[in-house]
Amino acid sequence: MEISKRAQGISPSLTLEITAKAKSMKAAGKDVVSFGAGEPDFNTPDYIVAAAKEALDKGVTRYTAASGTPEVKKAICEALKADGMDYEPSQIVVSNGAKHCLTNAFLCTVNEGDEVIIPAPFWLTYPELVKLAGGVPVILKAKKENGYKITVDDLKKTITPKTKAILLCNPCNPSGIVYSKDEIFAFAKFLEDKDIYIISDEIYNKLSYDTEVVSISTYSEKIKEKTIVINGVSKSYAMTGWRIGWSASNAKLAKAMGSLQSHCTSNPNSIAQYATVAAYTKPEGKEFISSLYGVFKERRDLMVDVLGKMGADIIKPQGAFYVMVDVSRYFGKKFNGEVIDSAHKIAMLLIDNYDMAVIPCESFGADNFIRLSYAISKEDILKGLDRLNDFFGKIA
Ligand code: PLP
Repeated sequence: MEISKRAQGISPSLTLEITAKAKSMKAAGKDVVSFGAGEPDFNTPDYIVAAAKEALDKGVTRYTAASGTPEVKKAICEALKADGMDYEPSQIVVSNGAKHCLTNAFLCTVNEGDEVIIPAPFWLTYPELVKLAGGVPVILKAKKENGYKITVDDLKKTITPKTKAILLCNPCNPSGIVYSKDEIFAFAKFLEDKDIYIISDEIYNKLSYDTEVVSISTYSEKIKEKTIVINGVSKSYAMTGWRIGWSASNAKLAKAMGSLQSHCTSNPNSIAQYATVAAYTKPEGKEFISSLYGVFKERRDLMVDVLGKMGADIIKPQGAFYVMVDVSRYFGKKFNGEVIDSAHKIAMLLIDNYDMAVIPCESFGADNFIRLSYAISKEDILKGLDRLNDFFGKIA
């Protein structure tokens, strides 16, 4: 018996092999430096953990409304307001992580054969979710000469009558680039009169180091109507394991996404929802985010500085916690007699010879790159970059 065509269409992740290997080497006691992390290396702050304990003690352990409790929706609306966005609780759907929100968003907007524009480099999940929804991912490569950002002109050339949605991720995983307010509003101006949804993944919006991040939804009422803002507590409150993300959209779409979710998963975890209210409303939240921001900014500066001194060809990151390094100059050369033919090969050589994990970017639509996450200590950053430098130096 065959598995479904839908399941067959999903690509396996090339990154799993490397991260799994790094984990097992660590478990075996090796001094592995892993630049693979996709989450902050912080524990969830105590005040949020305390709220979760309170939820348990109070018996907040039953089903909630499928799309989230009134309390958590209210807290999210207040958080949105603080970021200049005005939404009602009826426009919010709380899900099992931002990834689940994206799944809802694609399943509720895309019909069979619809095209969804995804700027590359992209987070590897987007095209898979588009395919799952029956859509066609249209990859729009951001050009080096444009700072690895797409432009309105690029969009003009890519849009067809079949375009149903465009995905924007700002700040961007994996490239770390950040679109400025002017750049984002230029997209908004262009898209305002088009029947195209904008799926705006803003999960890293608290981690922008040089530029203010503005949601495209704030451009006008018309744009807000067709935008689905995606965010959550995973990255900004170090709550990746709690699985709380949310979307803000027009009420009709929110209702559809809520109904879909009611059949697929029901509500997200009741205790995590309760803790999320605390995350957003307690005064400690601001303090936590500002310390997270400070630590990541310092590490970003360190990464850029050291990689610069190494002469590495990088995309200078302005947000999130990733740096992409162009390794194509090594393709066709050899390390220890082995031919380097891809970013994946480089990642395998690094794990096998240097006990160090990096993410090859073939599945991010960027074959020439590896991605380094700096969600690790400064000591590990320095140790890891030292190993990388040694490796690059031995390629001939
Ligand atoms: N969007 C982007 C760009 C991400 O990098 C991630 C996680 O790595 C997510 C969404 C998913 O977040 P969550 O863990 O809340 O599902």
